[in-house]
Amino acid sequence: MFTGFANLKNMPPKSKKILITHTSREVFVIRRGDGRQIRGFCPGCRQEVELLTLDEAVSLVPCDTRETIRRIDAGSLHAVETGSGHLLVCQPSLEIFLQEETILQGEMK
Ligand SMILES: [Zn+2]
Repeated sequence: MFTGFANLKNMPPKSKKILITHTSREVFVIRRGDGRQIRGFCPGCRQEVELLTLDEAVSLVPCDTRETIRRIDAGSLHAVETGSGHLLVCQPSLEIFLQEETILQGEMK
């Protein structure tokens, strides 16, 4: 029976301390067709966000698919990969990216 954490101060001097770590991955399974939002955990934002398909994201940004993927790889856009290998783009990171692009274009004028 688990009764809680051991009191490390009261352990005998030759006792071994074992650190147990746990890593988990989240798999997204998407079934769409009814126009509903996709929501999932974004590791970049560390919270649940709205996710867009790569096609949806590319239609919103002023660059093509290749450039969008390059920006995902560079970390300026967040994305998660589904269990079937599709990229889903974090909508909040896309909004921040678009705001920064607008500021940059305003400064260039
Ligand atoms: Zn994010």
